[in-house]
Amino acid sequence: MGKKKTLKNFWVRIESASSTVTGSLLYVKPNFPNGKRKPELVFDCGAFLTEECKEFNKTFPCNPENIDAVFITHEHVDHMGRLGGFYNQGYKGKVYASEYTTEVLKSDAMRNYFFMRKRKEDPKYEEKDAIALINGCTSIDLEEVINIDENVEIVAYNNAHTKGAVMYIVTFKYEKHEIEILITGDYKKKGISGKSYFPNNKKFKKKITIITEATNGNKKRPEAKFKKNLEKIIYQGKSALCSSIGRERSEDVLYAIKTLQENGKIPRTIPIYVEGNKFLDLNKININVIPFNFNIINDRNSKEIALYDKRQKIIIVANRGSFTYFLQHFINKETWGIFFLNHMSKGSLAERLMVEKGTKVIIGGNTYEKIADVFQTDEFSRHYYIDELKDLFDGFECINAVFLGHGESESKKDLQEELKKRKNLKVQILKRGEAFKIYEDKIRHSK
Ligand SMILES: [Zn+2]
Repeated sequence: MGKKKTLKNFWVRIESASSTVTGSLLYVKPNFPNGKRKPELVFDCGAFLTEECKEFNKTFPCNPENIDAVFITHEHVDHMGRLGGFYNQGYKGKVYASEYTTEVLKSDAMRNYFFMRKRKEDPKYEEKDAIALINGCTSIDLEEVINIDENVEIVAYNNAHTKGAVMYIVTFKYEKHEIEILITGDYKKKGISGKSYFPNNKKFKKKITIITEATNGNKKRPEAKFKKNLEKIIYQGKSALCSSIGRERSEDVLYAIKTLQENGKIPRTIPIYVEGNKFLDLNKININVIPFNFNIINDRNSKEIALYDKRQKIIIVANRGSFTYFLQHFINKETWGIFFLNHMSKGSLAERLMVEKGTKVIIGGNTYEKIADVFQTDEFSRHYYIDELKDLFDGFECINAVFLGHGESESKKDLQEELKKRKNLKVQILKRGEAFKIYEDKIRHSK
């Protein structure tokens, strides 16, 4: 096979709306040698959630009126929270997502609208925009080929980041020439909901540019210690309170408990109280993860039952308010183990509780003596650790370049350094206000 000449006037311009962890939005615009500069695409349309970035919610890096299609990788607010605002500023097209994500987008559209109106938050939009979003949502199947027009096709692949998450391969075609881009969104290789072996365990032959996230930087998978610690606490006759925010994570945690029961490590007679809410939707829960002696907390009454039940018990909550409620009752008791199953950020409640027994701590405005055992683990992170990324890269014979978004700037730099050790791999960090051109065999900065 002779090497064909690459085309000088064939590129795809990409621009990220975000430099940080939230506000994911990638604006993609091709340039074909015949002068065609369509279709214009947007991948994810997330809200900025941190105080210092909220101002960014007002504007987009593109004119929504000109966008031909929007693709969403998954249902987290920092990846879809600005869709209403996008319609408000003139978008008229469809929003493509997996079947599960589509359902969530539709059921969240009105709820987010009322929430936004009550809090007077940006991006401002109206009821008609929420309705346009509900009607614009279009469900796609895994590995189904979507032809946007004769030059562009898009395929969704499974991604274990969260329930319903996908990643996209976008192919821009011109005569015999192709530019291929993989957009992972947040990425995880394995989860309760499946595996992202890519693509189907075969090597992908064509040259690819990968746009991915960097939440965990170059970190290795942490030691799994949740099961060991929980088993110990239960063996000592103590009860456990677990804080687990996020749907997929809650299912992982339930499944870990179920495995402990099945292996005889903890008695099946201990009641498991689980809070069902937006974060752990019991209508959509994977029934394979439900442990024995499973009790649902879904109102004030069932919350009090969970609190006052005198037996040894395990309580799992996915809501910060409820967690504080239980924590205030248990933190000063010798008979409790408290488990933080989310990432421990600087100044967080988890970090403030990592102190010697007997230290005074403040929870929800009140002061308590910290007596309970407190644990924290990152093993349930829904973002990849470095080995999973290396596995993903090994699925491709030839990588043109890698772009890193979504992550603290330190994580991105750490990951960039780690990846640069790979031979000839070009690695760029995506920044708000900075654009790149992706060619068949190189990348360049763009205006
Ligand atoms: Zn996410």
